[in-house]
This record gives sequence, structure tokens and C-alpha cells, in this order.
Amino acid sequence: MENTVLANGLSMPMEGFGVFQVPDPEVCEQAVLDALASGYRLIDTAAAYMNEKAVGSAIKKSGIDRSEIFVTTKLWIQDFGYEAAKKAIQTCLDNLQTDYIDLLLLHQPFGDIFGAWRAMEEAYKAGKLKAIGVSNFYPFMLENFLLNVDIKPMVNQIEIHPFFIREKDIEFMKANNIQPEAWGPLAEGKFGIFTNPVLERIAKKYNKSVAQIVLRWDIERGVVVIPKSTHKNRIEENIDIWDFSLTPEEVAEINSLDKGHSEIVDHFDPNFVKMICSLKIHD
Ligand code: NDP
Repeated sequence: MENTVLANGLSMPMEGFGVFQVPDPEVCEQAVLDALASGYRLIDTAAAYMNEKAVGSAIKKSGIDRSEIFVTTKLWIQDFGYEAAKKAIQTCLDNLQTDYIDLLLLHQPFGDIFGAWRAMEEAYKAGKLKAIGVSNFYPFMLENFLLNVDIKPMVNQIEIHPFFIREKDIEFMKANNIQPEAWGPLAEGKFGIFTNPVLERIAKKYNKSVAQIVLRWDIERGVVVIPKSTHKNRIEENIDIWDFSLTPEEVAEINSLDKGHSEIVDHFDPNFVKMICSLKIHD
């Protein structure tokens, strides 16, 4: 396992474990326990996933020292704005049963992001957050954000997989000292990813699975990955990517699968913006 160093000097594992769409507390707790036992030291949750408590319990039960685990969570749009975010940060800490969060992200680029960010900056200065960042920000949104905040985001978590490779977006983030992190690194299992002939051929060469090749492709590009699975064998498989590397030609070949746009979510669609801005995760 390798680590990356964020703009503020914080060390962050290059691979972590995501728990989106694991609402059942027992299933989530077991998956996080399996992930920690398999060697993952980064867990990625969000207030909107409704499983922060299960993540916190698993970390406690694992017996692993809190300082060895990098915990990421995200504030939802409903909790944006200064006062609401201040309260929501405390709720995240309570749910995760911890006195600090390694990385807190603005989950989406909509709503009162600047008010929420001020609350995050304050909590960061108070030591309750070790790093702060954003998610789903396209470069033009990031540029506007960078021009208008005091503390710059250290991470941007965005959709990245072989069918949406985000080459220019990653370049822009790196130029601005923002660590790119891939959500949906396995394309959420969509678009026939696991039977794609290009990926299958490269997988065969290394005696690895397609999932392992795709995760390794992100690592070669300096992108942090957080694959999700609730199956122990896949959880173990997905972290077994640290004993081989891809050639630049293979990285380029995988890059050629790019469709140039997302077929999972469309942040440019007003109906999508309306839908997520009205999504309530609590009263
Ligand atoms: P992933 O790309 O990680 O894909 C998960 C899917 O792939 C699941 O259906 C899983 O099935 C399957 N899978 C996992 N490993 C394997 C394998 N080795 N072989 C075959 N199938 C496999 O999608 P996610 O959307 O979960 O993204 C990862 C994480 O990113 C999330 O969990 C979350 O933490 C974060 N995220 C953030 C978002 C944001 O807006 N910031 C949006 C979406 C995700 P199974 O579980 O049945 O094994």
C-alpha cells in the first residue's frame, strides 16, 4: 500500500474502502471489519449514506488504533450553510464515535457551499478535521471555489473509471495541489466493465482480475481509489494490487475506452440538480 501526501502534509492511503449503498448497519459493519482485516486503512462514508454509525462501530470493534485509520465522510447539501454545517460536523463526529475526522468533503457542488466551507475551515483550524475537500466539482467550479475561499480544498472526489477517465480534470487538480480521488472506480459494475476485451486481455497478462487492473490503472495515474464491495473475496481481491504495475502503453490503451462523459450522473442537468438539492437525509 502506498500513501499520498496532501497539500497540508497529511498522509492519505492511495486505496480505501467505500460504503455507498450499504444501508444495513450489520452488513456495513461486517464489510468494514472485513476491509480492515484485509489491510484497508481508509474508509469512505458520507452523512447521506446513513451508515456513519456502523462505520464508527466497526472501527471500534476492529481493535485497530484510531490513528492508523483514515476516515472520510461528507456533508450533504441539506446541511450546507454555516450554521447547519457546524451542527452537521458535530453529528458526523458523534455518529462516527470519534473526536476527529481525517477528511471531510462537501458532497456536492450545489447549495450554500461557501457557508458550509467556512464551518469546515473553522473545524479544521480547531483540529476536528485533519483535511477538508470537495466532491463532484468540475474544473470551472473548482476555479470559482479556489478564488473565493481561504483554505483550499485538499481533495476532490469525482467519478473516474475507464469509461470516464477525466484526464484534463485530473491535470487541473494536480496543478492546483488537489488530490484526485475516484468514486465509482469500477464504474459501479456497469457498462460490461468486467467483460471488456481490452481489460480482460491485460488482466490475463498479469494473472489478475479486471477489477484489479482497473484499480491499478488509477494508481498509475496518481488517483486514490475507494472500491466498494460487500463480498469478502472481492474486498480482498480489490486490495491485492500492490505487487504489479501497468506499462504506460497499457495505461494509454485503457484511456482509449473513454466515452468523455458520465453515463451515471449528469451534474449539468437542471433536473438532476433539482432532485439532489431537494433530497433530505434528516428532518
Ligand atoms: P464501485 O465502482 O466501487 O463498484 C461497486 C460495485 O462493483 C458493486 O456492485 C460491487 O458488488 C461490485 N464489485 C466490487 N468489487 C468487485 C469485483 N472485484 N468483482 C466484481 N464486482 C465487484 O462503485 P461505488 O459507487 O460504490 O463507488 C465506490 C465508493 O465511492 C462508494 O462506495 C462511495 O464511498 C464513493 N462514492 C462517492 C460518490 C460521491 O458523490 N462522492 C458517488 C458514488 C460513490 P458487491 O458489493 O456485490 O461485491
